[in-house]
Amino acid sequence: SDRCIYNFAAGPATLPESVLLKAQSELYNYRGSGMSIMEMSHRGKEFDAVIKKAESDLRSLLSISDDFAVLFLQGGATTQFSAVPLNLCMPEDSADYIVTGSWSVRALKEAQKFCKPNVIWSGKSEKYTRICSFDEIPQTLDAKYLHICGNETVQGVEFKDYPNPMNKSSVLVADMSSNFCSKPVDISKFGVIYAGAQKNVGPSGVTIVIIRRALLGHAQPIAPVMLDYKAQADTDSLYNTPPCFAIYICSLVFEYLLHQGGLVAMAKKNEKKAGVLYDAIDASGEFYVSHVEKSVRSLMNVPFTLQKSELEKKFIEEAAKEGMVQLKGHLSVGGVRASIYNAMPLAGVEKLVAFMKDFQARHP
Ligand code: PMP
Repeated sequence: SDRCIYNFAAGPATLPESVLLKAQSELYNYRGSGMSIMEMSHRGKEFDAVIKKAESDLRSLLSISDDFAVLFLQGGATTQFSAVPLNLCMPEDSADYIVTGSWSVRALKEAQKFCKPNVIWSGKSEKYTRICSFDEIPQTLDAKYLHICGNETVQGVEFKDYPNPMNKSSVLVADMSSNFCSKPVDISKFGVIYAGAQKNVGPSGVTIVIIRRALLGHAQPIAPVMLDYKAQADTDSLYNTPPCFAIYICSLVFEYLLHQGGLVAMAKKNEKKAGVLYDAIDASGEFYVSHVEKSVRSLMNVPFTLQKSELEKKFIEEAAKEGMVQLKGHLSVGGVRASIYNAMPLAGVEKLVAFMKDFQARHP
């Protein structure tokens, strides 16, 4: 490889090398068509094959049954913060939110405009370092859904199992933007899963929504058509022009993930990588500190601080000089954050760990 860096960005994030090279080789003349895929009609046969294959490969990866629609939408995960209440609630309906970090807060704020959300648990007073046990929290009797953020990208807190909505008419909704396709997930437990692509499965510009078909067709009358899941499902995500090129890249990533052995294999690799990094933090005698409760530490985003916080800037700068880039923690929390999505190789994590040991030895 002539790219001699490891990119620890939280998103947009590193993509598999083979995917980038394949996209490069097809960019100018897509499979002999004389055109780039981004120059073609979204209703032509080439793009039709791309989006169909993207959907069927994703269905294979996550074992998504036909009870669910798979949508490729625009507007980022942030748009889904409003689409979810607009599709699942009327303005007077209630919905439950478990608030485990910055992204749950954003989802909640948006829902407040379109329904009556209740925060049934918040980790705020503990600086979002843990997740509640599910039987300890009271759910609202008539809530239309229970919303969680499967992986908090900023705080590095990840659900390892999932709560069940208490009443039969409620469904579980999850923002899986930052751990989508990082491990197998039992889709049948959910009503809606949504994810911006730009961490694990593609570039920014496309957002994937997996929705139980029985939930379609109940959008609030004021819902913009672009946010109406039924309008999108009825047209196979082609109500208007979709983000064709982004969907094409996702299709290459899905193909790559299947070749890697699917999500069971990816989960094993991700556990191994995260284990190496957390072990190094834990073995540092508090030189490096992870603040998240061990049982819910994220396998995707590993935020940590240096006990000598005045060294953090130097740590990030020196790491960058050695080819490990984008390690700065989120603006809102500072510190260091290593995002180690599917496409980050174990060698990248091992290099980071070696650097951490060396940096510590030089700063006794
Ligand atoms: N949810 C989570 C968990 C995220 O990590 C992000 C992006 N960092 C978002 C939502 C917002 O995504 P977007 O920028 O695609 O709107």
